[in-house]
Amino acid sequence: MTPQAPTNLVSKPGTVYLVGAGPGDPGLITVTGRDLLCRADAVVYDALANPALLAHAPATARRLDVGKRARHHKLTQDQTNQLLLDLAREGLMVVRLKGGDPYLFGRGAEECAFLAAHGVRCEVVPGVTAGIAGPATAGIPVTHRKTASTVTIVTGHEDPTKGHTSVDYAGLAALIGTGGTACFYMGVGRLPAIAAALTAQGLSADTPAAAVQWGTLPRQRSVRGTLATLSGAVIAQGLGAPAIIVVGAVAALTDPGLDFFTDRPLFGVRVLVTRTRHQASELSAQLQAAGAQVIEAPTLELVPPADWDVVDAALDRLAHPPADGGYRWLVLTSVNAVDTLADRLHATGHDARALAGVRLAVVGQATADALHARLAVRADLQPPRFTAAALAQAMADAGGLSGARCLLLRADIARPGLPAALTRAGARVDEVVAYETRPPAAMDPDALDALRAGAVDWVTFTSSSTARNLYRLLGADAALLSGVKTASIGPATTETVRTLGLGPTVQAAASTLDALVASLVQAHGPAPG
Ligand code: SAH
Repeated sequence: MTPQAPTNLVSKPGTVYLVGAGPGDPGLITVTGRDLLCRADAVVYDALANPALLAHAPATARRLDVGKRARHHKLTQDQTNQLLLDLAREGLMVVRLKGGDPYLFGRGAEECAFLAAHGVRCEVVPGVTAGIAGPATAGIPVTHRKTASTVTIVTGHEDPTKGHTSVDYAGLAALIGTGGTACFYMGVGRLPAIAAALTAQGLSADTPAAAVQWGTLPRQRSVRGTLATLSGAVIAQGLGAPAIIVVGAVAALTDPGLDFFTDRPLFGVRVLVTRTRHQASELSAQLQAAGAQVIEAPTLELVPPADWDVVDAALDRLAHPPADGGYRWLVLTSVNAVDTLADRLHATGHDARALAGVRLAVVGQATADALHARLAVRADLQPPRFTAAALAQAMADAGGLSGARCLLLRADIARPGLPAALTRAGARVDEVVAYETRPPAAMDPDALDALRAGAVDWVTFTSSSTARNLYRLLGADAALLSGVKTASIGPATTETVRTLGLGPTVQAAASTLDALVASLVQAHGPAPG
């Protein structure tokens, strides 16, 4: 059976799509929402929409931040409405990205009505709302067959003690008292007033209650208590907005398995990842899957070589092997090398057929995947473990290296181990610099803030240059690293880290990202709470 296309989406110019961004985790946007983002001409987004989602939008799309936090509006609602109208009237396909679900306390209906009144079509893509998802990742199911049969979504924005609240606290207290759940949005600052209003309506002060801040995100924090104790606990733990307050029996559930989110081995652990901007994502993704909060500090930038002559000449030799012998092997040791290969083949009028006569050796699954994604080509050889000697041995076993001409596309700062091992095995190696690396001009400001605030537990080093460059970038602030545990990918990197006067605390058992993550998990021991 042919699988159905995920959506029957038609995106139209001059239309505004109110897209629910989900509660925080960028994976919790809908498929339709992501597809629309991928085609947007303009994205207008809120403070609570995860900025990571913007990466889906085309590079050419306009990105407009209308983020607002209580009492600090970057754009008034009228200005936002007008902006959406103007963009649509320019004939653009506009995605209005709103945290959670657009119709839950997001003024989505007002934006829709305004656009419709001005003749602009507006469509809504629902989203996963924070009041259900946040409790879920804090271990609280908002309904439960035995415990809660109703759930009420309530605004905590209005002060119940002021007397003009539109929330029926008597009705709410009755629902909760008979086994219902209430989820308050925008209520953490008014928690004492909310608790007072509910108890004034006869709800027991012992009714279970919980607060969940930054739900579904690695930095999620939650506290549990009762209507009597929660407010004090929230203050003691320093929780603030954005948070959901859950009131009802479900807030006391501790059934096994409910804590799937917080029981991950690195939950609550803050890791500074130093790599190139391009490459950090794989390590970051693995750390995040283990629950860690990742702060990326790019320490290398990739730049094209000064000119492409040498690369292009080598690729031309691949495409048109000379009579005296073409390349037998093309060795690719990074995703970046694959990117250069694909880009330069295209730029010089070639395509994947240029690789027809050469065997391909790759290092690492990510490189193999990139080769498939960029050129729809399979690698002939991928050693299970990467060391220069293992790769040379595998290539020799797979067809001999003696007298074989090998093309090695690599970074300017690659270590000499691999070409030396190939040459020892009898190969004739052409090393070609596919990309150059250099430190960025300045330390990433968010990463620096995190270090200064003491909000970093670990720093990972995946090469000597990441360690050296981080030191250089930090300058006088390098002292901040003394309180941070370090994880190194292998012996050479460890040596450099030591020379710089640091640990490292752990070294990966093998020089792979998997092993690096594993070493961190092992060093960290059992998850908190
Ligand atoms: N439309 C959004 C809600 C917007 S109102 C939705 O459907 O989720 C903003 C409130 O949402 C915040 O004050 C907070 O109560 C809640 N909120 C949004 N994201 C949250 C998160 N990640 N964790 C906890 N609460 C969140």
